[in-house]
Amino acid sequence: MTAVLITGAAGFIGSHLSRGLLDRGYDVTGIDNLVTGDRRRVDHLQREDGFAFIEGDLTDRSCLERAMAGTEYVFHQAALASVARSFDRPVETARANCVGTANLLDAALDEGVSKVVVASSAAVYGSNAPLPVDEAQPVDPESPYALSKYWTERLALQFDRVQGLPAVALRYFNVFGPGQDPEGDYAAVIPAFVEAMTAGNHPVIYGDGEQSRDFVFVDDVVDANIRAAESDVSGDVFNVARGERTTVRELVASLNDVLESDLEPVHESARPGDVRHSLAAIDKARTELGFTADVGLREGLERMTAAGHAEQFVGTADGSAD
Ligand code: NAD
Repeated sequence: MTAVLITGAAGFIGSHLSRGLLDRGYDVTGIDNLVTGDRRRVDHLQREDGFAFIEGDLTDRSCLERAMAGTEYVFHQAALASVARSFDRPVETARANCVGTANLLDAALDEGVSKVVVASSAAVYGSNAPLPVDEAQPVDPESPYALSKYWTERLALQFDRVQGLPAVALRYFNVFGPGQDPEGDYAAVIPAFVEAMTAGNHPVIYGDGEQSRDFVFVDDVVDANIRAAESDVSGDVFNVARGERTTVRELVASLNDVLESDLEPVHESARPGDVRHSLAAIDKARTELGFTADVGLREGLERMTAAGHAEQFVGTADGSAD
């Protein structure tokens, strides 16, 4: 069986990717330091053949070497993944996202890994790019987080070009789906709204709600990662998005529709570093990776709300979260 390593496996996207790769017959090792991840996302996977979990930090080289022995593909999802947190904690963000990525790529080179796929972000484009934004546009990272994601992708592509370690960077737009953390100051907008509105509470919008996002369902992001690893493509960067734009106010309306509720949003002041509008050009991923996002916003919201909170940690089909 082909062995793969997933960093950030106890995170939202990493845990879905673990499930997706196991289902496709890969032998999966996951590594995560659980700083924002949750062990319950991998507990049930550990009961399956072909999955191993290592609690460890990306900055620990010996731990990475152990995790990477015999690995064909590395899927690098681990990061401190929040614009707001990166302003509060720039040093921690740089340590995890920049030092951690450098350590990972160096270890992958030594191990002779066939390809590394790294998670970048639409945040690298900043707020002034013409929309829909394509991969040829200049970047303009406006937060420590965005800068760390740019570092992640450029370093991966440098390792590809200079050192001969095949690498692909995927610029995810706004990913959503079951198991996404709804709690805390740094929660993404969709899980925070789902959590609030299913409990009958008013969603909090930062700013006027006319800011827009290109939401992409997590199963589609899993598909993009696997295509990137299995394809002949390397040394390049791709948008991963649906190519449709939804304002935050429209998101509230869609959720009201799905939940058959009528909850008005509450507005608070806009957060620094949040981009105003976001919309991806998706032609490059379609042409070169054969990737298109299949799940629409409404269908994705229905899947999230149908799952219910106890079942949000992927794979717990019986509804238990452990
Ligand atoms: P997440 O916070 O759920 O997962 C990240 C995981 O990385 C967590 O489990 C955390 O514990 C782990 N981690 C952090 N620092 C680590 C370290 N030093 N060593 C080991 N593990 C560490 O976030 P997510 O939403 O699943 O995001 C996954 C990736 O996708 C991140 O790289 C993020 O920047 C990127 N991304 C996400 C989105 C989105 O909408 N969710 C959008 C663009 C890019």
